[in-house]
Amino acid sequence: METDVQDARKPAPSAPRGTRVPVTVAHGDGIGPEIMKASLRALLAAGAEIEIEEIEIGEKVYQSGHSAGLTSEAWDSLRRTGVFYKAPITTPQGGGFKSLNVTVRKTLGLYANIRPCVSYAPFIATKHPEMDLVIVRENEEDLYAGIEHRQTDEVYQCLKIISRPGSEKIMRYAFEFARVHGRSKVTCFSKDNIMKLTDGLFHKVFDEVAAEYPGIENEHWIVDIGAARLADTPRVFDVIVMPNLYGDILSDVAAQITGSVGLGPLANIGTHCAMFEAIHGSAPPIAGQGIANPSGLMLAGVMMLVHIGQPAAAERLHNAWLRTIEDGVHTVDIWREGVSREKVGTDAFADSVIARLGQTPQTLPAVSYAADTEPMVLPEPKRAAPAVKALVGIDVFVHSTLSPDNLAARMKTAETAALELALITNRGVKVWPGGLPETFCTDHWRCRYMAVPGTGFDNAAVADLLRVLAQAGIDFIKTEHLYTFDGAPGYSLGQGQ
Ligand code: NAD
Repeated sequence: METDVQDARKPAPSAPRGTRVPVTVAHGDGIGPEIMKASLRALLAAGAEIEIEEIEIGEKVYQSGHSAGLTSEAWDSLRRTGVFYKAPITTPQGGGFKSLNVTVRKTLGLYANIRPCVSYAPFIATKHPEMDLVIVRENEEDLYAGIEHRQTDEVYQCLKIISRPGSEKIMRYAFEFARVHGRSKVTCFSKDNIMKLTDGLFHKVFDEVAAEYPGIENEHWIVDIGAARLADTPRVFDVIVMPNLYGDILSDVAAQITGSVGLGPLANIGTHCAMFEAIHGSAPPIAGQGIANPSGLMLAGVMMLVHIGQPAAAERLHNAWLRTIEDGVHTVDIWREGVSREKVGTDAFADSVIARLGQTPQTLPAVSYAADTEPMVLPEPKRAAPAVKALVGIDVFVHSTLSPDNLAARMKTAETAALELALITNRGVKVWPGGLPETFCTDHWRCRYMAVPGTGFDNAAVADLLRVLAQAGIDFIKTEHLYTFDGAPGYSLGQGQ
């Protein structure tokens, strides 16, 4: 294995008291400019010491030919400040445009997606009045690696990538988040009963990191039953860490059942940069009317202030916001007859929050960010010594409409004294030797050759095999090497094997 790791790192923004921290601000599209203006007024009134660098993102930038909705000047600003306070944008319809969010997250290495999901009963209607949890979603890997292929007439694939360093970073973040924010339990959701290698690694690394935090309770749930429990009894959870896809879906479920999806903030955190925004989009139908609720973005601003080391301003703003909600000063989206008292627009809501700075809520629990001055300890993931890796076989994927037995007969012609055809699967199910006629088959077959031990199977032998298969007219469409690592198989068995 060749190694060439570059680490051009820039420290995360530190915040000496009394200095203004540069922050990149984008006003976005739709309701974005209205809610950003209101949120910034509230942040500054609460005592935020920030130096704003404005950038343009979104629809206009997409239309001017930047496929990810960001100009090079915007990237310069983001890399300079390392802190991005972002209003929602409108994603243009049609092909050729890349998601700005995914591009920013991946390019800037924002590996942790943090979503607090809190109920504000009885002021905002919810079936779960005691809900107060945080979802920590891995943000860079899993099925979001964006590696997809069409391989045959009938079959498409998307690669699920889970890495040890990626898992270690997110686990450490989850436990450090719990430690610094005084949360007592971290739960991991995975599907490692099915995806034993990928989700299995995620779960294993969770257990390893959990062992370093004896003061924090830890538990693991299979994601399906965990999701059911989350939707039914969310109060049993505190911090939940999960891979990208489950986190994407379940963080929306969790936000929705607080009763207030429109109030949810979101932070994307990396080693060098962080991005803070509301959960919701640009809400084009209500844009320009001055009625949008700025709460999601305002609370994202609270998370940003904590991140840049200004917990006092964060606490003042958050408590004033809670008091405003409690006083029944509500925008139209959360207005409820009998509970709400004053129906306000975007600017008047911000004015109401500003008027309550210095006050704390009377019924809802007040927040305290005093402990959050303690920094999180987020060391670089440990790189273990390379394992002893041995090539023990090869999976050759074939596009074919032959029957399993006929395909096996063709594939066996490529066998050598050092290599034998061990099995054929279709969509992972063993169909040869000894398949069942009931098994539905597509035109996409995995043919597994295993090396006879001690014969020195290597990449040259793989190339020889593929040459023989090509000469025999076999339409192979990809291969996967089968390795053992320190003697343990690094591949799954066929279902039914
Ligand atoms: P949306 O979140 O914009 O709107 C969903 C519903 O919630 C609408 O009825 C809307 O009026 C309402 N709503 C949303 N925010 C509100 C607020 N602050 N106050 C009051 N009501 C609010 O979702 P959508 O309609 O699916 O998407 C609209 C656009 O936003 C699309 O172009 C989408 O791609 C984009 N979007 C952007 C982001 C982002 O920038 N992070 C996130 C999601 C969607």
